[in-house]
Amino acid sequence: MTKENKNYHGLPQNENNNEEPLTCEACGGSLKKEKINLEEFEGGKLYHMENIPAYICLNCGETWIPEESIHEFEKMIEIVKLRRKKHPFNAAKPKPKKRKKSAL
Ligand SMILES: [Zn+2]
Repeated sequence: MTKENKNYHGLPQNENNNEEPLTCEACGGSLKKEKINLEEFEGGKLYHMENIPAYICLNCGETWIPEESIHEFEKMIEIVKLRRKKHPFNAAKPKPKKRKKSAL
């Protein structure tokens, strides 16, 4: 048995233990591994993650993101959401109006 260092759970495993597909599923072209930036607009907020390993098709330009990377990204979004919930005081708080501006 091989020991793999995984920081995610519950991902379906391929029966044939190929690491990653290296041909484009759309056109069959060859894929180039690259780091990309992922962006997701959710709930009025833009989530952004950099340096996601992805595969770019050299033939049709399609971007293929490994499922684990998508999970990482979704996890990051969840963490950000939780953080925002944990700090309700960071939400727009009305400033106390103490000083009255008197005419000079
Ligand atoms: Zn392609």
